[in-house]
This record gives sequence, C-alpha cells and structure tokens, in this order.
Amino acid sequence: DSADFDEEVKSICPFCGVGCQISLKVKDGKVKYVDGINGPANEGRLCVKGRFGFDYIHHDHRLTKPLIRRDDAPAKGLNVDPGNWSEFFREATWDEALDVAAKGLRDIGGRGVAGFGSAKCTNEEAYLFQKLIRQGFGHNNVDHCTRLCHASSVAALMENVGSGAVTATFNEIENADVAIVIGANPVENHPVAATFFKQFTKRGGKLIVMDPRGVGLRRFASHMLQFRPGTDVSMLNAIMHVIVEEKLYDEQYIAAYTENWEAEKAHLADFTPEKMAAVCGIEAEVLRDVARTFAGAKAAMIFWGMGVSQHIHGTDNARCLISLALMTGQVGRPGSGLHPLRGQNNVQGASDAGLVPMFLPDYQSVMDDGVRRAFTEVWGSEDFSAQKGLTVTEIMDAVHEGSIKGIYVLGENPAMSDPDVEHARDALAKLEHLVVQDIFITETANYADVILPASAFAEKSGTVTNTNRQVQMGRRAVAPPGEAREDWWIEVELAKRLGLGWSYESPAEVFAEMKLNMRSLNNITWERLERENAVTYPSLSETDPGQAIVFADGFPRPDGRARFTPASIIAPDDVPDADFPMILTTGRQLEHWHTGSMTRRSTVLDGLEPEANCSLHPSTLRKLGVAPGGHVRLTTKRGSIEIMAREDRAVSPDMVFLPFAYVEAAANILTNPAVDPYGKIPEFKFSAVKVEAA
Ligand code: SF4
Repeated sequence: DSADFDEEVKSICPFCGVGCQISLKVKDGKVKYVDGINGPANEGRLCVKGRFGFDYIHHDHRLTKPLIRRDDAPAKGLNVDPGNWSEFFREATWDEALDVAAKGLRDIGGRGVAGFGSAKCTNEEAYLFQKLIRQGFGHNNVDHCTRLCHASSVAALMENVGSGAVTATFNEIENADVAIVIGANPVENHPVAATFFKQFTKRGGKLIVMDPRGVGLRRFASHMLQFRPGTDVSMLNAIMHVIVEEKLYDEQYIAAYTENWEAEKAHLADFTPEKMAAVCGIEAEVLRDVARTFAGAKAAMIFWGMGVSQHIHGTDNARCLISLALMTGQVGRPGSGLHPLRGQNNVQGASDAGLVPMFLPDYQSVMDDGVRRAFTEVWGSEDFSAQKGLTVTEIMDAVHEGSIKGIYVLGENPAMSDPDVEHARDALAKLEHLVVQDIFITETANYADVILPASAFAEKSGTVTNTNRQVQMGRRAVAPPGEAREDWWIEVELAKRLGLGWSYESPAEVFAEMKLNMRSLNNITWERLERENAVTYPSLSETDPGQAIVFADGFPRPDGRARFTPASIIAPDDVPDADFPMILTTGRQLEHWHTGSMTRRSTVLDGLEPEANCSLHPSTLRKLGVAPGGHVRLTTKRGSIEIMAREDRAVSPDMVFLPFAYVEAAANILTNPAVDPYGKIPEFKFSAVKVEAA
C-alpha cells in the first residue's frame, strides 16, 4: 500500500553475491520494509535476508560520531560494549579524528602500513581504498575478504582461462540439461540462485550435487555424492579418468581451444575410479555414471563455492573443475560454463577494482611497468612498488614480525574472520596505530585508536558487481545517523590529510576515473546505470545489456587457448589423529551473515537464529550422551569453544559443521591458518577437532 511509505528507492541487497535488486520503502527517514524488484539476477525474488535483514541500519548501536581512544583507556582488545563505549573512547570532531588517523599512518609510513578493504564497499570505495594505499604508501599491501573466499578459484581461473570472473551467469542454467554444484550450499548461501537451480530440475535438468555435507539441494539431485572432506581432487580426477578412458571428451573443442591436453590425459591415467573410490568414499560405478552423465550433456554448467576454494588444495580443486569443463567443451555456449558462486554482495566488484595485493583494477599486474605507468599518469603521482603486496593472513604475520605497525580497516572484521583468530587478535593488539571505519563497534574496533563512523548500504550511492558480472546501481535511500558519513567521503578526507591532493566530489566522478583504465567498464557509464540499474560486463555497445556468456571464440590467454593444469592429491594440513579424531568444517547459515555484525542486529533474522550452534550427526550425539540442543565443547590445536549442538543427518558421523557468525563461540578460534600456496586462502573447511559433552 503506497500509504505505508513516503518514498521508494531502488537499490541492491547488501548480503550475498546474487545481487538481488530491491525496492526500499522509506517513511519518516527510515526504511520500513523491502520488496524484490525485477533485476536480471533475481527476477523479483528475495530470500529472508534480503526481505527482512535491513533494520540493523537503524540499530541504536550505530556509530554516530568519530571516536578516539582515551589516553587512560583499558588495554586494547578488551570487549567494548557497542552501546556503552565511553570508558574506552571519547567523541571527536571529524577534523580531529581524521587528523589523528592520518598522522598515525603517516608517521609509520611506507611498508609499515597496510590496508584491509571490504567486499561490503562499493566499486568506487574499493577503487579509492586501493589507490589510497598504493599512492599514499608506495606499495601494494592492500587486500580484502576475497582472500578468505574465492582467491584460489580466481588463481585457477586466471591461470587456465585468463579471467577470474564467471564464464556464464547462473541464470544460464535454464539452457542447460546437466549441472554440477560442488562445495556449495546455495539453498542457504545463495538462496535466490537456488530457486533457479530447483526450477531447472523441475523441467528435467539433471543436478549432480557433490559435497561432504548432504546440503539442501540433495532433494533435487539426480546424483548426490557425499564424498569424504578434502578428497575433491581424487573424485574429480576419477570422473575425468572415465571421460578419457571411454573417449567421451570433445576432441574438436580440445584441439581448437585448449593446450596441455596430452599432459592432462597422461596424468589422469592413474586415477581409476576403483582406486579413487577408496580415497573419496564414492563408489566407482557412481563416479562412472556421473562422468557419462556430464560428458553426455548437450549443455552443462559447473557451480562451486567455498567448499572447493577454502582448502590448502583449493586452487587444485578449481583446476580440476576447469579441466572437466574444457575436456567436454562446456564453456562459451548457452547453458554451459564455469561459475564460482561469489559470497559477498560486492566481492567480484571489489576484486575488479584492484582491492588485492597483486593486481591493479581489471586484474592488471602490479609487476608490469606499463600498467603502473597508466595508473600513475591518471593519478598524477609517483611510481609505486612493482612487488606484489602481502595478503590478509600475511599482513597479520608481518605485524607479529614487526614490519607492519599500522592498519587502516574499512568494513572488514579480521578479529572475527581470520583463521586462528587469536593470532590475528594478538597482532591487532600489537599495532601502533589502527584506524577502523565501520558502522558498529566491531570486534576489530576493540583494538582501534580511531573509529570513523561510516554508512550502511541504504545510506550511500555507488555501484556493485554481483556473481554474474552485473554492475548494478545502489542508491541512497536514507541519511546516515548523526555525523556518520558516506565511506567514499571519509576516504577522500583521509587522503587529503595524507597529502594526496584528492578532490572527488561524488562517486560518479570516481567511476569516471575507473573507466579510464578498466576495459571491463567499456560502454558502461554512471548515467546508463542510473537509467538501466544493471549492465553485465563485457558490454559491446551502449545499447548492449552485456554478455551473459563469454569465451565463445577462445580465451584471453596466449593463442586464445585455455589450459589444462593437472592436479595431484594433497592431504589436508591438519589431519585427524587420536587426540583430535573428528573433522571440523565451517560455513554460513541462511539467517546470518559472515561475522554477524549486521544480521545479529536484524530483528527478524536474530529472532530466527538467536543462539550459536553447531551441527552433529544423531549417532555422534548419542555416543557423546548429549541430547539435541545440549552443549558440546569443540577443541582443536588452536583453541576451544562451547556451543549448542543440533542434530543434523546432513553431516557425516565424523564431522562437525560450525557457522562462523557467533562471537560468543567464534568458529575461527578453532580454524587452521595453513594456506593454499597459490590463492593464499586458509583451510577453513578442514581442521582436526575433538568433540566432548560440555
Ligand atoms: Fe540478498 Fe542474496 Fe538473499 Fe538475494 S539471495 S536477497 S542477494 S541474500
């Protein structure tokens, strides 16, 4: 009823990478409710987070003034009550807080300073953040949560197809007859995408689900492969072995568009399904059937999530998926393609905008002199380091070693999100200067010297890019509370105090600058996005809505050829033993988002899932003598937590599934910081754990 609201503003859901378009209904300066509208990814649909997860923006914990740590404050890292922080911080004017923030970073200077941006940033904010670190400090120590998410997928895609983005939108599944979903639980993590997957099965599509947990899509699956955790490479190589053995591969496609096939073929010879069945726990006949089903498809897609990427062999896992698609010629046609489902709303866009230590915007290498020159010419500044910067976890190690002394954090919460989080928290406590820009006093802000009050998604305008490569326009619907400011404004003011001479007056101006060195944005202008709300990149003309499928005629690699990179079996880093006999895996659940700072302050979502919980198989609970809803203690080599246990037949008897949104039982106290050597992503999906009744 239009009488319910004064104004209606179109924007983008701030949570997952599906990027649902929404209409914010505003009354008396507040968002009252949210409806789904007809965006290219969601076609009017929303999940519970998009529909009900918005009232955190009006929560009374919101930061409304800049804060500076008191001289007589208790030690850094003690829990600050977000509603009552006066023992730790004092209010300051913007001028004073920005001056103190900039002076602290400037006094440390150069490689002593690092930056953590966020996938919650708009594209413009992400671009400005990486520019501030590179131009302001002369090096590339800037990263964001992609490192904890799909960095290994991007490493494999860049290496083998020449581009880190998806080759086809997830909506292309409507043109497929077979699809694999591996290491992903879209029903909870990409719920609107999952509705398209379910529709695909209703019209006869074959859905092959592969996951150590019996995830929600299993009810729709033609094949459910609940393989042993960490054995992806053995299972996928066995499937590819059958395709080679039975000559089910697409010889013409391989000859026209790929390289290194002979090496791949030779490598696969050893991986017979009969041998690999003992490793991955899937019967040889099932592996053969899946191979025949996938290779027999007219059009097939492969979707994957963090179950693939968050391993020390995450890049190898993704290499296998790429090889499987290439050998069957399932890239570049309608209904075919490779699609890593992006986690956060703007993790694609923030990566595209250069918020990573090895790439400038559009994945242009920092090591290339010509690339750096192109940027410094636009920026009117000196050259900066040609060395790759440090990643999220390496930055924390460098703090412990004493080489990094100051960090600027925008929207990230490493005191909750890093693996082996006590290591990260100790690092934050050691810093000489920590500037945190956020909307709440997060766990990371417990360590801050200066806190800059920022804006929630509905309080600012800017573009974001979803998992489908769709660049979409987010719009300001309400004003930030009190003296909180839009994030781009804060970045500009800080840069001015670092002597960078910035003078941007709007995100539109930033977007125009980004276009000068980002070919992915060709034919996409701010005005066009204001008019059309979404344009998919690449867009071939000012009227082209963008290409849903890419690489029909070859790949952005030498000779236009994609590459097969063989992958061998590597054991997980932290294997179970007599002391820690079970396997811990972490992830999200439908109602909560990442470190919980937003969704646990959303009335409906917190009402649905108010308590920290883990999932155990009924037989495990019985053995422990714990009733469903009772409490267990989880202990790994890193630490211990106590938590309510749910009964869940989807997890196998030797596994624990643990969501990471709950500060009172923080999953990352337990997780292993060992990383994949290529993507530098931690092994969140596998730790040896002991489970006891609490
Ligand atoms: Fe938001 Fe993702 Fe849900 Fe869509 S599917 S409403 S983008 S959380």
